[in-house]
Amino acid sequence: MTSLLAAPRRLMLLSLLVGSSALHVDSLAAALRPAARAPPPAALLSAPADEPPMRIGHGYDIHRMDTREAAGQPVVVAGVKFDGSDAPDFELGAVAHSDGDVVYHSVVDAILGALTLPDIGCLFPDNDPRLRGADSSIFMEEAYSRMTQRGYRLGNVDVTLIAQKPRVNVEHAGALVKERMSGNLARLLRTDVSRVNVKARTHEKVDSVGECRAIECHVSLILERDPSLPERRGVRDFEVTV
Ligand SMILES: [Zn+2]
Repeated sequence: MTSLLAAPRRLMLLSLLVGSSALHVDSLAAALRPAARAPPPAALLSAPADEPPMRIGHGYDIHRMDTREAAGQPVVVAGVKFDGSDAPDFELGAVAHSDGDVVYHSVVDAILGALTLPDIGCLFPDNDPRLRGADSSIFMEEAYSRMTQRGYRLGNVDVTLIAQKPRVNVEHAGALVKERMSGNLARLLRTDVSRVNVKARTHEKVDSVGECRAIECHVSLILERDPSLPERRGVRDFEVTV
């Protein structure tokens, strides 16, 4: 519709849309967002050209591992806890402000990157006391919300977990741990598990990851336009409060 408007009127309409942004912010993000935040870069306030049919994103994350006692929590990977509940018990824990889920954090950053939004550390600062030990599925929900607000759905996601330990290609409580991870991702991204791949490899016992002092993850994904969602051409109102 905006393309039919004269330029000055189009600018006015966009500024009105941007001005009403706070009303559209997801309630969870609003609750977690600090009261004072630096203004966003000017580039984020400008309306983009028509959204492309597909967007590609890459995410990376690494967390240090320490004894469970020092870390204060178990290792959590794609929502699977390595404490004997979802996966075999593992003696180390992930050092992190949140639960330190490298897979969820990488997927979130890949989605945000695909949408040309600020990264997870900007949205959820690691000095926010409300996020201490937080279940990283809340970050996934926020990324999903932003993806659908822009009119996209997941095309497919390819996860590469790099960890000497814990092993994920093992069975626990009647299920393959790796498949439990894929299932969690598919559930949070509201997609079929056939669009989610989780693979894992070691680091050949070298460097921090190979010496079990860290765990890391790479994610590549494609977002595709969802024809069932309304087009939001030229409107990025939810970004301005980032
Ligand atoms: Zn992280």
